[in-house]
Formats: sequence, structure tokens, C-alpha cells
Amino acid sequence: MLFDIYVICFLFIVGVFCGFSMVIIGIKMPLKVKEYFSACDNCNHPYKWYELMPILSFFLNGGRCNYCQKELSLFYPFLELLSGLLFSFSYMIYGFSYEMLMMMILTMLSVMIYVSDFKYYIILDKPILIAGIIVLACKLLFFGVETFIISLCSGFLVFFFMYFIKTVGDKLFKQESLGGGDVKLSTFFGVLLGIRLSIVALIIGSFLAFPCALYATLTNKDREIPFGPFLITGLYISFIFMDPIKNFISVIF
Ligand SMILES: [Zn+2]
Repeated sequence: MLFDIYVICFLFIVGVFCGFSMVIIGIKMPLKVKEYFSACDNCNHPYKWYELMPILSFFLNGGRCNYCQKELSLFYPFLELLSGLLFSFSYMIYGFSYEMLMMMILTMLSVMIYVSDFKYYIILDKPILIAGIIVLACKLLFFGVETFIISLCSGFLVFFFMYFIKTVGDKLFKQESLGGGDVKLSTFFGVLLGIRLSIVALIIGSFLAFPCALYATLTNKDREIPFGPFLITGLYISFIFMDPIKNFISVIF
């Protein structure tokens, strides 16, 4: 019991720092600047170490940059806190296991996509690629070559399926219907969850995005809705509720 509490607290702290790193990568990487960790994204003034403490810095600095006084978003410390909590939950739900590792990777990827897609409408390729490689390596280690090959093939199939939908959608609507980042993210779904659960994740993501897209269309026609955060939330839900969803699918088909 005491051991569990230590692990949960430790994972919370690790999760907060991982979330913090992902927030910074999500903010800085699309800008293609070299000093990822040390400067304000508005005035570029380097931060001191005590101004770079996850969650706490926001409150210690009164929610503003100390140098240009630009208001900082409360969304970022919220994501850092959420990341810490989800890391702790990963152990509470799964214990030390493959699923726990996957939930941690998913949490980090989600935080980064929430930041970059909401801020710039960009889903970064490299972190998805790295996450995909880690997932494949874990599949190989935990389940063997067969699962590794099936996961790889599932990724390719989901990629071609989404690419087909994007091509048809682009021609039909005469504008970009799906971002390239969304297609790459869906490929990651295929690698992690396989084809059936990926489709469920895509459906959940689309359902979540629909009210926001409708609201944006009704209020301001030109406003683009970032699809990535909804997709990754769909993936997260499908991952957490993997077993009930699988049971449901097997009952229906
Ligand atoms: Zn600043």
C-alpha cells in the first residue's frame, strides 16, 4: 500500500514534468527555434530556472511573462496537472504493464497535440513518428514478432484508408478536408490499436468534433477547427475502454 502511494506520487511528478516538456515542444517546435526550453514565445527573453517550474511558475509569476508582461494561458498549467494525474492513473488502472507505458505515451502525445493544434493548427510529425516507433518496439518486446508485423500492417492500412478519405474529401469540397497531420496521427492509431479500434477512435473523435465544428460554422464561417485534439481524445477513450468496446463489436458483428 505504502509502495503504491510512493509510485503514484512519483508518477504524478514525472507526469507533470513530461506534460511541461510536451507543452514547450508544442509551443516552440512549430516556430523552429533552437532554444526550446529557455525563452518566452512572445518576447524571446530567456527564462531563469525558477521561472520554468511546471504549474507553479504560472502562479508565482501571476499568470504573466516577467519580461513582456504578456498574459500566459491557464490552459498550459492545466495540461501539466492533467498529465501528472493521468500518469498516476495509468499505474492505478494497469499497474506496471504494457498498458501503463502506452497510456503514458498517449498522455504525452495528447498534451503536445492539444497545444500545437489549438495554437497553430499543426500536428508535429516527429513526435508522432517517435511515439510510433516506441509503440512498435514495445509490441515487439511484450508480444513478439507476429503482433509487431500486424501492428505495422494495421498502421499502413489505416494510413491508406485515411489518405483515400482525404483525397476524396479534398476533391468533393474543393478544399483541404483533412490535414496531413490528421492522416499521420490516424496511422499511429492503427499501430497502437489495430484497425477495428482505430475506426472506433476515429468515429468518437468525429462525434466530439462535430458540435464544435457546427458552432464555428454558425458563428464564424471562416474559422478552422483543429481536428487533432478531438482525434487524440477519441484514441484515448478507445484505449481506456478497449475491452468493453471489443466486447461490444464482437456482440454486434
Ligand atoms: Zn515575454
